[in-house]
Amino acid sequence: MDKLFTPSTVNKIIQEHDFKFSKSLGQNFLIDEHIIEKILISSDITKSDLVIEIGPGIGTLTAAIAEKAGKVKAVEIDKKLIPILKETLENFDNVEIINEDILKTDLKQIIDNERKYAAIKIIGNLPYYITTPIIMHILEAKLPIKNITIMIQKEVADRMKASPGGKEYGSLSVAVQYYCEIVPVAVVPKTVFIPKPNVDSFILRLDIREKPAVDVLDERFFFKIVRASFSQRRKTLLNSLSSALKCSKDSLEETLVNCDIEPKRRAETLSLTEFARLANELYKNSQ
Ligand code: SAM
Repeated sequence: MDKLFTPSTVNKIIQEHDFKFSKSLGQNFLIDEHIIEKILISSDITKSDLVIEIGPGIGTLTAAIAEKAGKVKAVEIDKKLIPILKETLENFDNVEIINEDILKTDLKQIIDNERKYAAIKIIGNLPYYITTPIIMHILEAKLPIKNITIMIQKEVADRMKASPGGKEYGSLSVAVQYYCEIVPVAVVPKTVFIPKPNVDSFILRLDIREKPAVDVLDERFFFKIVRASFSQRRKTLLNSLSSALKCSKDSLEETLVNCDIEPKRRAETLSLTEFARLANELYKNSQ
């Protein structure tokens, strides 16, 4: 098999199989060896790793991962890609293709069935239309994984790694930073994909924290408060929280002051520690 990442090989495979790209499935295939290398180096794969790949496409990244990993389980939703993957990956006996929607895949079971690997890593050049649901699906499942190396829209990467104070900082930043330490890897130009997307991309590595960044009494409640705080970004924290939680401004103001948070501040200025302090105080009051 020719190297899969060259534009001519990708075009040849696509033509031979009369494959039509699906925009709605976010199909933009990689054609650049250096980007593949950056993903591999960042993920630091060894033969004792089980790698779960999200959306293998025609198997370009999958083949490169399979050379380094102990085992690769690649989850692809598009059944038209399965015969192509069987062909492009036929020389690898450590790759398993799973024809499923990653959002419906029981990742815990996949991992439980492969206990002999020392570390579990997730890699994906993600379909951009469901980046956030995929990441939350993985993080909320609290899987015993070491890291997640993802290629995503640059704008979404900016939101994930944003610090308090800017317009990019929001619920997504808080959620990802709560579970992970974020390592920015590289900006990726549009030109490394067929077909070329409209926006630049970014490679991020998410290192799963051994324990979340802040201590919260109740995780679901914490995220409810974070979402409520950002529900009306332009309003003060006091106003957005009181309307989202349907509670009296007086008691809320008292709680905010007790938490050392000025009620006129906006949600985008609160650190994770402040969100945790506020959520814990509101949780105690609600019991
Ligand atoms: N990994 C390939 C590459 O880098 O060339 C393809 C990446 S492409 C951006 C995204 C891939 O995810 C496509 O193959 C698409 O069919 C697949 N995909 C889209 N939605 C999916 C879902 N819900 N579950 C699993 N795979 C999905």
